[in-house]
Amino acid sequence: MYEFAVTPAVTQLRRPGVTITEVSQGSLGEELELQPNDRIVKVNGRTVRDYLDFRFQTGGETDLTFHVRKTTGELIEIEFDRDESEDLGLMFEQIMPRQCANECLFCFCKGNPEDARPSLFVRDEDIRLSFLYGNYTTLSSITADEMNRIVEQRLSPQYVSVHATDLRTRAYLLGVDEKRADIFEKLQRLLDNDIEIHAQVVLCPEINDGTILEKTLRDLAAHFPKVISTAVVPVALTRYNTDERLTAVTPEFCRQTIKQVEKLQKEFRKTLGTTFAFLGDEIYIKAGAEIPSRRHYGNYPQIEDGVGMVRSFLNSFEKVVNRGDAVAQREISSATIVTGEMFGPILQEQIDRYNSLNGTKIKVLAVPNTYFGGDVAVAGLLSGKDLLAVRDQIDSDLVIIPSHIIKSDEPVLIDGMRFDALTAAVDLPIYPLDLKGLQQFLSGTPVEKISHTYEWQRNPRNRAAVRHPATV
Ligand code: SF4
Repeated sequence: MYEFAVTPAVTQLRRPGVTITEVSQGSLGEELELQPNDRIVKVNGRTVRDYLDFRFQTGGETDLTFHVRKTTGELIEIEFDRDESEDLGLMFEQIMPRQCANECLFCFCKGNPEDARPSLFVRDEDIRLSFLYGNYTTLSSITADEMNRIVEQRLSPQYVSVHATDLRTRAYLLGVDEKRADIFEKLQRLLDNDIEIHAQVVLCPEINDGTILEKTLRDLAAHFPKVISTAVVPVALTRYNTDERLTAVTPEFCRQTIKQVEKLQKEFRKTLGTTFAFLGDEIYIKAGAEIPSRRHYGNYPQIEDGVGMVRSFLNSFEKVVNRGDAVAQREISSATIVTGEMFGPILQEQIDRYNSLNGTKIKVLAVPNTYFGGDVAVAGLLSGKDLLAVRDQIDSDLVIIPSHIIKSDEPVLIDGMRFDALTAAVDLPIYPLDLKGLQQFLSGTPVEKISHTYEWQRNPRNRAAVRHPATV
């Protein structure tokens, strides 16, 4: 699940062309007198619908003709040639996501508090964003035009929420009729055209588990290597998603799922040479089970979906933990690292080792998520209110929070609280870092020098869609 930087305006969806947002100084675009807010509507006579079309239609072309709608309304034609590798120096508006036509039982939008920031309510279902950012689509309402586009423009891989290959179950989960839920032919067409697929199953106890899960994983594995991998992630219930057809994921359910899927993973490793069906980290943590080894995850094909993130962290933390030079950093000994309740114990164990080897006194604070409630315990969904609720427990000189809890293009937390308001209320320096940034910090890099600390300040024009923070 992913979040968009900007809530789409429906009125903009049908406007032809793509709007320029920036023209680099000294670039070919500047030479052509292109300006921010100009709209490129055609390239070499072909209509441009968005940035992807523009990229596709200009790629490899040296003789180009643009039809450009200027802000005055005037339509002009620009004919030019360029060297093969010459960049135009143009930045474009974000793609406005197409919205889904499903009513999924477990839709994350239903689980949001009403005052959550508006971008969390965008129900995107867009093959372009699937290709660009790994957003999942269900393919249920994909048009013939979109199917053609995936094939023509080679928008591969695509990330597809399959949930179940049993049609009745899939339709039930998506809240649509079986005809709409049936994506067999569409998937087949993509695979026949060598479009690669990463699949996802949101696992709902008593609905798509047990024999239905086994059938789903076997059906998908039959298409390996074009279906590259499948992620199985547990449904997350907040206190707002109270649909009585949904059952909470318990530790016992996780243990049973691990046992069931482990058998299939062994089989797939033997027959396909890959684990193929990967369980979300949350399942292992909830089960109290050991996180699988590095080999299990291969090249971490679904790490952004919270699959293998903990293993990746633990392995890279090994390189950090013995770094004696970290103690040279004065600030390091008095930091508090804030995380969610799920990742808290894992991080605590690593920081304990780090402290004893480096003589530091770094603290880990696992914060309960009262904003979403339910069984939400991931760090990425902590709100400003949750952080303020634990203010009294922080007695260090600086605080590190997970960077994903802040919107990528502006300093706003998930409940709409602004970052500067949080900093003022906590009255301490706060540094948002991702796991990589945290490791840099523990390795001795001064916290203010960690490059992605303030993404919105570094690149305020970044309008790209960003991943939903539903990971560890
Ligand atoms: S596909 Fe389902 S989960 Fe995704 S936005 Fe639509 S209704 Fe929600």
